[in-house]
Amino acid sequence: MAKKIVSDLNVKGKKVLIRVDFNVPMKNGVITDDTRIKAALPTIKYVLDGGGKAIVFSHLGRVKVAEDIAKNDITPVAKRLEELLGVKVKFINKTRGKELEDAAASLKDGEVLMFANTRNEDFDLVNNKEVKKESKNDPELGEYWASLGDVFVNDAFGTAHRAAASNVGIAANVKETAAGFLLEKEIKFIGGAVDNPKRPYVAILGGAKVSDKIGVIEALIEKADKILIGGAMMFTFLKAQGLNVGASKFEEDKLDLAKELLTKANGKIVLPVDALVAKEFADVKGLEKDVDKFDNDDMGLDIGPKTLDLFAKELQGAKTVVWNGPMGVFEFENYNKGTIGVCELLANLKDAATIIGGGDSAAAAEQLGYANKVSHISTGGGASLEYLEGKELPGIACVDNK
Ligand code: ADP
Ligand code: MG
Repeated sequence: MAKKIVSDLNVKGKKVLIRVDFNVPMKNGVITDDTRIKAALPTIKYVLDGGGKAIVFSHLGRVKVAEDIAKNDITPVAKRLEELLGVKVKFINKTRGKELEDAAASLKDGEVLMFANTRNEDFDLVNNKEVKKESKNDPELGEYWASLGDVFVNDAFGTAHRAAASNVGIAANVKETAAGFLLEKEIKFIGGAVDNPKRPYVAILGGAKVSDKIGVIEALIEKADKILIGGAMMFTFLKAQGLNVGASKFEEDKLDLAKELLTKANGKIVLPVDALVAKEFADVKGLEKDVDKFDNDDMGLDIGPKTLDLFAKELQGAKTVVWNGPMGVFEFENYNKGTIGVCELLANLKDAATIIGGGDSAAAAEQLGYANKVSHISTGGGASLEYLEGKELPGIACVDNK
């Protein structure tokens, strides 16, 4: 069923509660990357342009002990939002109380209010203990935040896989809940790949561990037409097939599972035929080796050129491609070719929905300059994996259907 989007709401004169994802990286109180703030602007602007009053809030980092509240002070984010928006942002550095309530009540059309890090509610300063009111969806808190506004817009995908007071809790206490434009895009692309992928549907999986991605691999064996595997994960599968993977990273306790998955996949899983190997985990020039020719001290740190050719063939004509997990240690310049190669393959596909999900793969694609050459880069790591698994995400389920 199609979800209600912010553009389906009549926001004129309404106080619109907007849950955004402003969980930006910071160093000593300075924002090091404001991509997430910029990404939330269309939804906020839409509300303001429609004559609504925007009440914006987000989590920032984790709050487990009292010191975390000062450490994750969201004040710089409110300042940056004001600069980017070009509109005054009234910032109340509290998550509740009369000052906040008065500010919300006196907001005029086209004005913006932002309040404190929602996760400050995870710690009770009076009794000095962790209470997780936000993160465990304390019903009173969701009801309280809902009382500050009229309608609710969820635009935070990164936390959509967990029920919190600031998504599910608010939604339960307002008349109308819609998705923001960012969440809309996640639903369109990842939701589209899960529910109704155009075929051929090819998945590419890489990254550190099989164990992180068992659920996704199992779901993709059911759904996708092909699953191409790279990253350190490839060595668990290759070892499961009886190959010598040398000193490469693999998971001993997942060999049986890898065997099972290969059987279940019945030819859908495509494994690398060569790799770049080194004798140490370092950014030194690697040697190209076929996967059946490893010496005991060879450590595979990237997929090789023959594998990229093989993947190119497998991707020919694909209409949906989902990619999660880098193909190699892309942080090392000597071992980023596989990941660049896959970016390039995706960028060159015609008429295909190309989707990148996952923290490191998304960062890699952005860092390597491919952000605008694919259909969608997901803003959620854990959330995108759970969504791909076909699980219902509470932060999406709580949005009204159209
Ligand atoms: P994502 O966040 O996209 O889901 P992961 O967190 O699973 O990805 O994995 C990313 C990490 O995997 C990167 O830090 C990368 O260096 C590492 N990695 C990829 N290939 C290898 C390899 N062959 N050996 C060791 N580490 C690898
Ligand atoms: Mg990661």
